[in-house]
Amino acid sequence: MVESDHDITLQETDRIHGRTALVNNVSAASSLAGAISSTLGPKGLDKMLVKEDGTAIVTNDGVTVIETANVEHPTARMLIDASSSQDRYARDGTTTTVLLISEMLQNALELVRMGIHPSVVVKGYELSLDEALREITRLSIDASETQRKSVVKTSLQGKGDSSLCDKIATLAIEAADSLSKESGNVDLERIRVKRIQIDEGNLMETKLVNGLMLLKSRVDIASPKKTGPGKIAIIDGGLEPAKLEISATIEVGNPSNLREFHKRATKRFKDKIEHLSSLGVDLLVVREGISDEAISMLTDSGITAYRRFERKDMELLSTITGAKPVSNPMKLTKDELGTFSSRSEERIADVSHTLIEGDGVGMSFVVRGSSRAIREEAIRIFDDALGVAHRLNGYPGILPGGGATQSHLARHLRKFSKSQSGREQLAIEGYASALESIPRILSENAGWDPVESILSLSADQKESGSWIGLDLDSGGSSDMAEKGVFDPEFVVEHALSGATEAAISVLRIDDVLWARTDPSTPDWQDDELED
Ligand code: ADP
Ligand code: MG
Repeated sequence: MVESDHDITLQETDRIHGRTALVNNVSAASSLAGAISSTLGPKGLDKMLVKEDGTAIVTNDGVTVIETANVEHPTARMLIDASSSQDRYARDGTTTTVLLISEMLQNALELVRMGIHPSVVVKGYELSLDEALREITRLSIDASETQRKSVVKTSLQGKGDSSLCDKIATLAIEAADSLSKESGNVDLERIRVKRIQIDEGNLMETKLVNGLMLLKSRVDIASPKKTGPGKIAIIDGGLEPAKLEISATIEVGNPSNLREFHKRATKRFKDKIEHLSSLGVDLLVVREGISDEAISMLTDSGITAYRRFERKDMELLSTITGAKPVSNPMKLTKDELGTFSSRSEERIADVSHTLIEGDGVGMSFVVRGSSRAIREEAIRIFDDALGVAHRLNGYPGILPGGGATQSHLARHLRKFSKSQSGREQLAIEGYASALESIPRILSENAGWDPVESILSLSADQKESGSWIGLDLDSGGSSDMAEKGVFDPEFVVEHALSGATEAAISVLRIDDVLWARTDPSTPDWQDDELED
């Protein structure tokens, strides 16, 4: 290696370049993939993650494993980012993404060792991705009503007990169908469905209710327990008479001044309530406090009121009822009122719960269970299920699971490579073998012979069609549509493009410059503790 002149300016860095940089980066990617490959698929094993404070979680989810690990290598971080991006976009396929990147890189390294320049490999990988994406649309079909549930259930494989996953898949599909009434935002599933826990009963009593459920009781129990339909107003602020500020100076030499001040404050405050009442408000929701004085005035005016709302509950209620939050009650107009169809209160596990329903899209996922850990696990499963179910309504294409899609694509790409020039042909073949790592690892994790599995899978597909995938129970292969093992097209597509993009960016690195840190530098040196 010849040191060039500008290296002198890089004295404060450790430098690795060329082939060494690639070898180094590929080995970082492989060790990360090695840590999670045993979790892939329905027969994958769980990992126990122990945090610094000693608390442990057991998970089968690749992205959770690597996000929890303290990974420092910059290449490994690129893989983690690709996997997190997959999680955000598709809520599934995170382990697959990391495994694919690692395989693509290992095969690229082989090619580089054979004397093929990384830029040729990059070109071949880009061609492969384009061709694979085209082929995916040819292979996919639109999910039927019954297939939709199987897709969601396949994505939950290994995440929990099967009857629980079954139940949660049904609830998620129900929620996704309600969400589909509203167009736009893919993140709707996070903001339109409130997750609420009840410390009683068992998991199988978990349900989805229409409307907003809150751990709350009305401010005055003298007001009715149940009302509706009616008009609702939302105040984004408080309903309290103006307080006498400590700093305010009032001439108290004459006590009637102070009395006058109070009288006027109460009057202004009464005016607000009268204004609400004149608009015909039946239900009032106030984000901040409501003073004691106001409570009875409200009840007398026939208004049932609730106070202290979290902003996101207030926003959800606004969507459900169409009420527009306003900060000043005096300025509230008829147009800003919403309508609710019913409001009721119920005591569950000794706590008051209020349910407000309306015509807008908004639901509450009510999880029952005796321990917080169990309930949170169920919420995580529901989040994944709803993420997939909701996206499936927008992108209904599905593909065969059990390694079928990847095996088909590998065969297709090998055929396609023949149309390309010699060196790129090799890169496309490398890409094809990387895809086959998915059926290979699925088989390995189920205890079958991986090489035997991918060879016979490909042979069976040639004979009986590309919807034949691995039957991990028997070690043979079977029709994935009949078995109900499907992967959503958006999951497979995004995993493939995300993985290819990440592998390519690693291949483009020719130089790694590590800032040299002095081991005697204490960690807190950077902190802003100047004194
Ligand atoms: P990821 O994080 O990538 O989603 P998973 O552990 O969820 O990883 O495994 C997903 C893979 O398991 C997909 O390739 C899917 O087709 C496959 N799979 C899921 N269920 C089955 C099944 N019953 N039989 C065969 N393969 C399955
Ligand atoms: Mg999965």
